[in-house]
Amino acid sequence: MMHYTSTRDKSVSVAAAQAITQGISKDGGLFVPETIPTVSRDEVAALCQQDYIGRAQAILSYFLDDFTQQEIRQCVTGAYGNNRFSHPAVAPVVPLSEHASILELWHGPTCAFKDMALQLLPRLMPVAAEKSGTKQEIIILVATSGDTGKAALEGFQDVPGTRILVFYPQDGVSHIQKLQMVTQEGNNVGVCAVSGNFDDAQTGVKQIFTDERIAALLAEKGMAFSSANSINWGRLVPQIVYYFSAYCDLVQAGTIQNGDKINFVVPTGNFGNILAAYFAREMGLPVNKLICASNANCVLTEFIQTGVYNRKRDFFTTISPSMDILISSNLERLLYLMSGNDSVQTGDWMQQLQQEGQYRVTPEVQEKIADLFAAGYCDDKETKETIAKVFREQGYLCDPHTAVGVRVYTQYCKKTGDETQTVIASTANPYKFCTSVVQALTGDATQQDEFAQLKQLEAITKTSCPAQLATLQEKPVRFASVCTKDSMEQAVFTLLQI
Ligand SMILES: *Cc1c(COP(=O)(O)O)cnc(C)c1O
Repeated sequence: MMHYTSTRDKSVSVAAAQAITQGISKDGGLFVPETIPTVSRDEVAALCQQDYIGRAQAILSYFLDDFTQQEIRQCVTGAYGNNRFSHPAVAPVVPLSEHASILELWHGPTCAFKDMALQLLPRLMPVAAEKSGTKQEIIILVATSGDTGKAALEGFQDVPGTRILVFYPQDGVSHIQKLQMVTQEGNNVGVCAVSGNFDDAQTGVKQIFTDERIAALLAEKGMAFSSANSINWGRLVPQIVYYFSAYCDLVQAGTIQNGDKINFVVPTGNFGNILAAYFAREMGLPVNKLICASNANCVLTEFIQTGVYNRKRDFFTTISPSMDILISSNLERLLYLMSGNDSVQTGDWMQQLQQEGQYRVTPEVQEKIADLFAAGYCDDKETKETIAKVFREQGYLCDPHTAVGVRVYTQYCKKTGDETQTVIASTANPYKFCTSVVQALTGDATQQDEFAQLKQLEAITKTSCPAQLATLQEKPVRFASVCTKDSMEQAVFTLLQI
């Protein structure tokens, strides 16, 4: 059977169900598979013949071998079947240019790529909890800067045995993102604004998570906390699927032949999405380069180019807010794997990051990383230019996060001349970041309200706004409460009615 260990303690060894239920290892490390399963070329050929659900079933089975085939099938069908995704291919690949395609990851219910994992994790969670002997009701706490909160609410809505509470910074999310959350339906959901920024909300959630007194209080009521953010293995594993799926789609389209190497470009924040691509490669998917794209918060670009990770820098608020991150949690898993599963070394680096704000990896690790990864970044001005240029020249409308990916890909091609077929991950529907997209296309700083802008974007581009965003205006607001960062604990008790 497959076992999972901790990036900070090699004596840890648990089954997948336990790793998913627990979320994070007790030593503060992240769960990683002890060995990475391999997929042969023939198996890739077989995957090519399947639809997205079949591909997901196959890839998940490698990692969740303590789940039955039927359990996996049920979870996967629930997540990606029944028209929950508005595109029949779930994650379609569309051609962009001679050597590049776009992998659209935003056809789910909340129009962001987080749905790819957060439609599945809530279905895996109750099965995992039962397998690992947890009888308690699972309470998911989320601090969000926008996309994760809504995707998690939508995923956990009315999932038996779970409740979900989301905290968002009062002035830190867009009007549409806020409406998406405060109008959330379901009997097991709660949403509360925090008067502060994202860090305040995140710090508050972490404090509540690690407070033993609160944990004991919850235990008395038959409840336990868990996490839905991307440190949970159950959020990472669904993301491996679409890298295989994109590869298969290129084979099916005749763009490549099975066995040919391709590049992936990934707009990156917490390093979860690109790490899933790394796992796909380690499993045997033919990958040439993984290209990590950042915005002005270019801490990862610098790391991949120099081997020094330094979070002591100015923080920029950008038009690609889901990538405004200075501590990319999932990088820890890459460091562990690249250092030859060295949990002591990995723990040291993470401690240095916490205490000194930076660390430098060994030359061997740096070389391995530089061999496989390329990296680049661009600022808001370049992002907007790219949105306009790609729409004008290729007729493709992309959101600001995807535009960062396209820009960095263009830089990469200029520098290297690489003509390998490349798939660029597209992480949000452009209507979700309508204000910036309209500005990029028209050059105006528009004054209209966001719903007028949705109409404006439809008119300019002759595309249509997803119904779930256009109809938000009509939905009743269910959650209007605001708390301070010091009263979040009370807000949790109120929402849980304890
Ligand atoms: C979360 C998110 C990202 C960053 O993904 P990571 O897995 O954190 O690297 C990029 N774009 C969008 C739109 C997102 O929501």
